[in-house]
Amino acid sequence: MKFPEEVYSSKRFREQGVAVIELIANCMEDSLSGQPNKVIEMTDPATAMREVQQWFDRCTLDDSKDVAQLFSDIYHRAIRLHHPGYLGHQISPPLPDAALASLFSDFLNNGMGVFEMGIAGTAIERFVVKSLAKKMGFPESADGFLTSGGTLGNLTSLLAARRAKATDDIWESGIQRKTALLVSSQAHYCVDRSARVMGWGAEGVVKVPVKRDFTMDVSQLESSLQVARAKGLEVIAVVGSACSTATGTFDDLEGIGAFCQKHDLWFHVDGAHGAASVYSTQYSSRVKGLQMADSVVMDFHKLLMTPALATAVIFKEAKWAAGNFAQKAEYLWDDANHVDQWHDLAKRTFECTKSMIALKVFTILAVHGEQVFDDNVTTLYRSASRFGELLQRAEDFALATLPQSNIVCFRFAPAGEPDLDLLNRKVREELLSTGEFYIVQTTLGGCVWLRTTIANPFTKISDFENLMNEIRRIGRRRLPS
Ligand SMILES: *Cc1c(COP(=O)(O)O)cnc(C)c1O
Repeated sequence: MKFPEEVYSSKRFREQGVAVIELIANCMEDSLSGQPNKVIEMTDPATAMREVQQWFDRCTLDDSKDVAQLFSDIYHRAIRLHHPGYLGHQISPPLPDAALASLFSDFLNNGMGVFEMGIAGTAIERFVVKSLAKKMGFPESADGFLTSGGTLGNLTSLLAARRAKATDDIWESGIQRKTALLVSSQAHYCVDRSARVMGWGAEGVVKVPVKRDFTMDVSQLESSLQVARAKGLEVIAVVGSACSTATGTFDDLEGIGAFCQKHDLWFHVDGAHGAASVYSTQYSSRVKGLQMADSVVMDFHKLLMTPALATAVIFKEAKWAAGNFAQKAEYLWDDANHVDQWHDLAKRTFECTKSMIALKVFTILAVHGEQVFDDNVTTLYRSASRFGELLQRAEDFALATLPQSNIVCFRFAPAGEPDLDLLNRKVREELLSTGEFYIVQTTLGGCVWLRTTIANPFTKISDFENLMNEIRRIGRRRLPS
């Protein structure tokens, strides 16, 4: 193709675009109906590499340079989130309208670092952030931004915590003394990673024990704090998990909030997964106390049908949203600055150039209204709770804890089986190779548990029953008779 005219040809784009949209629509129909596609066509990494080479070669040789054909090949080896048997890690099957927003924002490619580089995108981000902060119960003055993933969102929040609470100005002078935060032993690994990135080392994360439902035992906060202080650590923050990744259960945010107030600690809520509960009329009480937080992280791509990555970081006090990365500390105390300059986003975020994350969320809100978020969260939580009931009633299954979100952990536990860890590991392996369901596994209390996230509102009770029967079928074959 002749450069630049033919590679930028609108005629070609029109033809390819129509074919690609047709392909996606077909993929969606197939996946949603659960027939005939599997959730996953498992293979090994070496085969996957060979296939990529084949796709590349075919496309190179093909005169038509058919993008839709290429995507069709890729779809074959992609995990299909729209399939009702997708019950794996926490990520949403995106709404088609949101996928269109991604396409449009990828075309615009407005970098958003400074206002002129994305006027609409910047204002839309403000709109999304403000409406979320309000939904979370924060005062009008709360502020924030969108960033690339919960992992980066948590690091960004903890940088603010450090700037707000550490005795030394570490941002300016580097680390002088050992800093730490308190978090439950069930927290997402990125909290630990953040502490290490900030130079706090392994000691920087003090693990608070959990209760039987895998939520933080708030009654242990006081002693954890004293032990940490006795070791010479300056504790600056407590991180609440809402919810925890493995079991989907919610820390007592009111209890942690009160503790933080008493000890003048920063209260961060890692709500990457479950802060989206605020949208559910039925389940918003799961995050009671959320508005006590100094900062909250929430992923739109986990429960809110938005293509990844789309993460909000909300600060109760606007100055932390504005001045977290300010090179000069005085900036933080200059009120005029952060009120006036909300529109130069690169000053606020870790990223410089950033994609138009907010457009995806805004499109969903504008086209479908906030109700669609309520519908999705409520449907998924309710569905998980029904799955929990099924498992509880079944004598050959054990439930790790009653589901509080759309995450359900359980294991196949038929009477007389000596090694349940091995059995469940094998069951998952075989499920993966048959490809009709996709589930993951986790370790709780030193034991292997199967873990599901109900991500798809099309997953029905009959799918859960089928999954359980499939597990029985695989498991029984492995049992010594
Ligand atoms: C998923 C998750 C994260 C990580 O978020 P990413 O968007 O995957 O980077 C952090 N914390 C919790 C509690 C999560 O569930």
